[in-house]
Amino acid sequence: MALVIQKFGGSSIADAERLKKASRRAVEEFNAGNQVVVVVSAMGDRTDELVELARRLNPEPAPREMDMLLSVGEQTSIALMAIAIHSMGFKAVSLTGSQAGIRTDGVASKARINEIDATRVFRELEKGQIVIVAGFQGVDSDDNITTLGRGGSDTTAVALAAALKAERCDIFTDVDGIYSADPRLVPEARRIERIDYDEMLELASLGAQVMQSRAAEIAKRFSVPFRVRPGGNNSEGTLVTNTEQLEQVDVRGAALEMNEAKVTIRDVPDIPGAASKIFSAIAKEHVSVDVIVQNISAKGITDLSFTLLQDDLPAARRASEAVIEELGCGELEVEDSIAKVSIVGVGMKNHTGVAESMFSALAENGVNIKMISTSEIKISVVIDADQGQIALRAVHEAFELGSA
Ligand code: ASP
Ligand code: MG
Repeated sequence: MALVIQKFGGSSIADAERLKKASRRAVEEFNAGNQVVVVVSAMGDRTDELVELARRLNPEPAPREMDMLLSVGEQTSIALMAIAIHSMGFKAVSLTGSQAGIRTDGVASKARINEIDATRVFRELEKGQIVIVAGFQGVDSDDNITTLGRGGSDTTAVALAAALKAERCDIFTDVDGIYSADPRLVPEARRIERIDYDEMLELASLGAQVMQSRAAEIAKRFSVPFRVRPGGNNSEGTLVTNTEQLEQVDVRGAALEMNEAKVTIRDVPDIPGAASKIFSAIAKEHVSVDVIVQNISAKGITDLSFTLLQDDLPAARRASEAVIEELGCGELEVEDSIAKVSIVGVGMKNHTGVAESMFSALAENGVNIKMISTSEIKISVVIDADQGQIALRAVHEAFELGSA
C-alpha cells in the first residue's frame, strides 16, 4: 500500500462540478489500494476576494487578522470535499492545518513550517479515511492560525509528502505541466517529462510561474519527487525530481522576461566603495537589481550598467541621481524597454559550447546582445524588447527543445 498526496489548486476545485471531479480522483487512488492525503487550496479566486473585502474596510489590515480571514477559504474547501466524498460512499475526514499538526513560526502572512506532527493524520489513515488537509495554513506556538504566503498550498503538500514519507505527490493545477518555453510565445514548445528541482526553480523565477518556489526548495531539500499535473485531463504532467533520474541534456528550457529596463551610469570613479554606494542607495528604495555589468576602467573611470523591472525605474533613477552627484559620475542613461532571454539546464555544468551555440543562434537571427550573465545552470542575455520573441524562438530551436 502506497501513501499518495494529491494537491488541488483553486482552479481545479473552483465550483461544485470541479470539486466533484477532484474528489473522484482521490477516490480512484483510494480504490487502487493506496492511502490518500488530499491538500486543497481555496476555491477559485476566493482568497483574492477575501483580501479585497478586507482592504475595503482597512487599507492596512493586521496580518494576524488576515491569516484568520484567509484560512477560511481553505477550510471551506476541505469540508466540501469531505462532504462530496461521503456522497460517493467513502470515508473522509477534513483537517485544518492545526489539526494536521502543521506547526509554524509566528510570522503572520508568511509563516514558515517548523515541524509537522503527523500523528493525527496517520491515525485517520489507519481508520481507512481519505484525509483532507487545508493547504496554506498552520498554527504557531501561541495557537494563532498562520498562513504560508500566497500560493502556500503547494508548500503544504510537499512538506506533508516529506513528513509522511509519501510515495507520490501530485500537484494538480491549471497548466499541463512545465514547458520547454511559454507555449503562447513558442508554438513548438513541448511539455517536459522530467525536470530537475533546480531547473524548475530557475524557470519559475524566470516567470514560468507554476508553483510557489518554496515548495520546490523543500522538495529538493528532502528529496521529494513530485508531479505537476493538469486537473482537467489525464496527462502525466511533469515529474520534478533529482538529476540522477534525468535524461542528460545541456538545456532543458528557455524563458523570456519582458518589462525590464536598463540603466547605465557613465564615468563612475574607479575607487573602492563606488558600486557599494550606488547599489545600497538603490536597495534602500527596495528595488531589486538583476544583471550588473561593470566595464573595464580607463583613466580611473568606468561605466556601470544594470537591469531592473520597468516599474522600479523611477525609484532607481531617484536613488542613482543622488549618488551620482555625490561621487561625481557622468551621465545617467536609461533604456526603458529591454528583454531578457535565458536558457536553463543542469547539464550545461559539464559541457562547453552551450554559450557559443546560444550566441550564434542569436547572431543568425540578427539579435544584438547588450549584456550577458551566467550561472552554473543558466545563461541569460539582455536584448531589445522588440526582439524578445524572435530571440526566444531562436534559442528554443537551436537547442531542439521542441523535438521529442
Ligand atoms: N489560497 C491561497 C492563495 O490563493 C493559497 C494557495 O492557493 O495555494 O494564495
Ligand atoms: Mg490560490
